[in-house]
Amino acid sequence: MTRTGFGYDLHRLARGRSLILGGVAVPFEKGPVGHSDGDVLSHAICDALLGAAGLGDIGTHFPDTDPQWKGASSLLFLEHTRELLNGRGLRIAHVDAVVVLEQPKLGPHFAAMRRSLAAALNIAPEQINLKAKTSEGTGAIGRSEAIAAYAIATLEP
Ligand code: MG
Repeated sequence: MTRTGFGYDLHRLARGRSLILGGVAVPFEKGPVGHSDGDVLSHAICDALLGAAGLGDIGTHFPDTDPQWKGASSLLFLEHTRELLNGRGLRIAHVDAVVVLEQPKLGPHFAAMRRSLAAALNIAPEQINLKAKTSEGTGAIGRSEAIAAYAIATLEP
């Protein structure tokens, strides 16, 4: 049976934090506030994968009350999720995601993000598609007060 899962995440942005997306540091004046590195793209993908596998959500597996995840690279969440999927005989066929932010432009960083995410998930970069959208200047995202990501994952036996 082919299975699909959906994931979403949002973090507030603040000065003095690094903007990490898909495990890649993107130069910007602000970064996400979070217990881990606040990588919204990795978090949304993680939730999509867990959802497709019927394994709940990221908060269940990596609670933000657990000191071992403080400041952790979110790629570790993806690596751990990959192991959970492997243990159930599930293979990642494809991941598609969109990051919603006002600035900066992410296009120049997508190749590095896909390589980084693919390495964490032990798949090929061609199995990951990344996109970016702005909020047309509206709301918290439009004021660069927040960043969000949506992802969908397809698993096969
Ligand atoms: Mg998050």
